[in-house]
Amino acid sequence: MRISKLFTKTTKSVPADEVSKNAQLLIQAGFIYKEMAGVYAYLPLGKKVLDNITQVVREEMNAVGGNEISLTALQRKDLWETSGRWSDEVMDVWFKTDLASGGQVGLAPTHEEPLTQLMKGFISSYKDLPVYPYQFQIKFRNELRAKSGLMRGREFWMKDLYSFSRDRAEHEKFYDEMAEAYMRVYARLGLGDLTYKTFASGGSFSKYSHEFQTVSPVGEDKIYISKAKNIAINEEVYTDEVLADLGLSREEMIEETAVEVGNIFTLGTKFSDALDLSYTAEDGSVQKVFMGSYGIGPSRLMGIIAEHFSDDKGLVWPENIAPGKVYLVQIGGDESRKIADELYDELQSKDISVIFDDRDARPGAKFADAELMGIPYRVTVSDRLIENNSYEFTDRKTGQTELLTHDELLAKLD
Ligand code: ATP
Ligand code: MG
Repeated sequence: MRISKLFTKTTKSVPADEVSKNAQLLIQAGFIYKEMAGVYAYLPLGKKVLDNITQVVREEMNAVGGNEISLTALQRKDLWETSGRWSDEVMDVWFKTDLASGGQVGLAPTHEEPLTQLMKGFISSYKDLPVYPYQFQIKFRNELRAKSGLMRGREFWMKDLYSFSRDRAEHEKFYDEMAEAYMRVYARLGLGDLTYKTFASGGSFSKYSHEFQTVSPVGEDKIYISKAKNIAINEEVYTDEVLADLGLSREEMIEETAVEVGNIFTLGTKFSDALDLSYTAEDGSVQKVFMGSYGIGPSRLMGIIAEHFSDDKGLVWPENIAPGKVYLVQIGGDESRKIADELYDELQSKDISVIFDDRDARPGAKFADAELMGIPYRVTVSDRLIENNSYEFTDRKTGQTELLTHDELLAKLD
């Protein structure tokens, strides 16, 4: 990607009402655009980051047998009435609207109802189970407070997977696999050391649900962590009884604020009862499908990563989700332009993603943008450097700079 072809620009100004650090940085770097409180558009570089996070999640969902789908945003009132969740008292985040032809529809805040209904067309026998459809979609939630940038949107990007199993035992096996898949996602995103599987309140079908909580000063949740056992308990269920149940003692627990970056939940037969999703078992009996739901918020993750991996100069993306691996800066006349063009082509031919700052701008402005955008490695080509047959290589995280030959540079970036 050439900066001269990129329509976005970095900026020092952010909307006056934007109080969160993640959104401030992402707006300044030209990654997102604020439409209104809790509603953001993704610009080219921001879209890349969100896509990269999405891809990590997708790979882990496919690895546990997920089938990717895409459900609809518009929702049928009658279906949600059947499950009892159309009411604003029961589901307090609904956005609803009137159809021109009469009647109402809702914008999906989650997708249990439509997917359970859809699966009735595909599940009838034990041979059809288990199955794990999942999707990435914009979810709509009329959140009361939306002051945390990407971390709490009124529309946001969610991965939701739903498990359809024969019985509790089959469900529990998959539930545990998902908990492990989630931890792999956070590890791959650089949040492994900060993220804890956290015991939270369950529904009618299990004692607990599990949240995945990333420790952060900007978190809205309070959790109690056992570092030794690598688990945590959400404040909402933090009692002596739960501690005893989990074999923990109050002395070993550390209190932290944290952000919920994922949630896995045993739904049991709540929705299969309400919408009558059943199957014929091996013994000929008719049984209700046993369900679970598994959410991750890639846009919230983008917010927390921006928040956590940043310094006074801007963003510092982990390499695997950065919008580019290399920020190539060209300084000087025709000769350096020729060499920079050649290097740009060569790196691209090796599948190394490069953002090429080919603008006619001051070196200081280019360096500042490279830092603000948080691209892991900066490579500078200038007339003076060419005379010495060298390229300047700077690591965004450490700030360390070295002079490298062409071959050394390629070896470094490989
Ligand atoms: P919270 O308790 O933070 O309101 P939730 O329990 O309502 O979240 P779920 O319904 O379990 O969230 O959604 C699954 C995941 O989607 C969450 O773990 C989180 O990562 C993400 N998420 C939920 N609400 C939002 C939001 N308003 N903006 C961005 N991401 C969100
Ligand atoms: Mg929650």
